Amino acid sequence: MKTSLPQAPSAVRWIVRTLEDAGYETWAVGGAVRDALAGRPGGDWDLATRARPSAIRSLFRRTVPIGIEHGTVGILTRGGTLIEITTFRRDVETDGRHAVVEFAETIVEDLARRDFTINAIAWHPLREELYDPFDGAGDLERGVLRTVGRAEDRFREDYLRILRALRFAGRFELEIQAVTWQAARSLVEHLPELSPERVREELLKILDDDPAPSRALHLYAASGTLRVLYPELEALRNARPAVWARCLTVLERLPPGRWVLRLAALLRPLPSEETAAVLVRLRLSNAATDEVARLADADPMPPPGTPDADVRRWLSRHGAERLNDLARLELAAARGGGKAEARAVAASWARARSILRGRPPLSVSDLALDGRDLIRLGMKPGPRFGDILDELLDWVLEDPARNERSLLEERALEIASETGETASAGERDG
Ligand code: ATP
Ligand code: MG
Repeated sequence: MKTSLPQAPSAVRWIVRTLEDAGYETWAVGGAVRDALAGRPGGDWDLATRARPSAIRSLFRRTVPIGIEHGTVGILTRGGTLIEITTFRRDVETDGRHAVVEFAETIVEDLARRDFTINAIAWHPLREELYDPFDGAGDLERGVLRTVGRAEDRFREDYLRILRALRFAGRFELEIQAVTWQAARSLVEHLPELSPERVREELLKILDDDPAPSRALHLYAASGTLRVLYPELEALRNARPAVWARCLTVLERLPPGRWVLRLAALLRPLPSEETAAVLVRLRLSNAATDEVARLADADPMPPPGTPDADVRRWLSRHGAERLNDLARLELAAARGGGKAEARAVAASWARARSILRGRPPLSVSDLALDGRDLIRLGMKPGPRFGDILDELLDWVLEDPARNERSLLEERALEIASETGETASAGERDG
């Protein structure tokens, strides 16, 4: 078992030294300690100290009040990184969603309020000493996830810990200890009491950070979490288990760091109304919702034999900027179907890229004519303008050589007269 960690960054040691020289016991805690013990160093170092926020602020020149009421102060190092330091705390009141905390005097109290033993390990960066009263390092070594203290109580204090359990067990390939697992399963009905933002962040962390997110998602399913929070996916899993299983494999083939892409892959087997419903519940930004929905609901890339005009129409409909992501999604899905399938997707992708290289007009803004030109032609501004421009675009998608002002003007007049939309007709209507 590892009982020693790589040396902490010098900025971390400098902060700890400054606090300890002033008489305040200080430890590295949380994710960075756990990750380093698990052989994955590189996370953010969080520090816990007996110093109160006011004392911390008087000892360092450049501080940022990150959450003074929770006792968290950010210290800006000379290198420009922000290191968070939090006064020892203990919970005085919890309701499943929030905690009321007060400052504590000892590191053991601070560790005792943490969720899992693997997250309750302290490391002293100067003495290079582990303080691990709940044997988190042992659990990490044995591959076990368990709560600090009685599982049911700890989950009732904050139901988010159920989701965190699934995420950490998946991420670190841990077995959830029987009592912890039973408690988590029996309390999943309470998950909807959490704020949608916290629920969302948990899912996004799995998608963004975990190189193999299917383990955590299996646990979402096995624990009943999927049923409670994402019933659309649970229904898919029950009705089409092979599709669900394949969807998880596809996720594994997409790299971490791009949750948008992985979320789109996860939602892709759902009908578009259900995708939309999940996205609304997650309360993502409008831009992210739109992007994920467009990726999840996209039509497959046109196969190599497709006429150029149809490839341009596909590019226009989906946005040329989305081509690479859509190709990545399709490639990840195709790899399960063998070499031939993957080769076909690669060929479609290459084809679309080569068409793009010719820089064909693909959107209304690429047209050599705009609304002002329609006005000059004597048409009356109004909602019909959009339809006319769309029709012009469709005409140009058929043949990019048509993207000439004079040709477009002629065609615009034709469209307007076909629909009785001539200048005089417009005036009569007005
Ligand atoms: P990651 O950043 O990869 O999600 P982490 O362990 O750093 O993992 P954070 O949410 O950054 O997780 O929290 C830092 C530490 O704070 C955790 O390691 C844990 O000790 C404690 N902690 C965070 N959230 C909770 C919670 N809901 N209940 C109890 N302790 C928590
Ligand atoms: Mg963290």
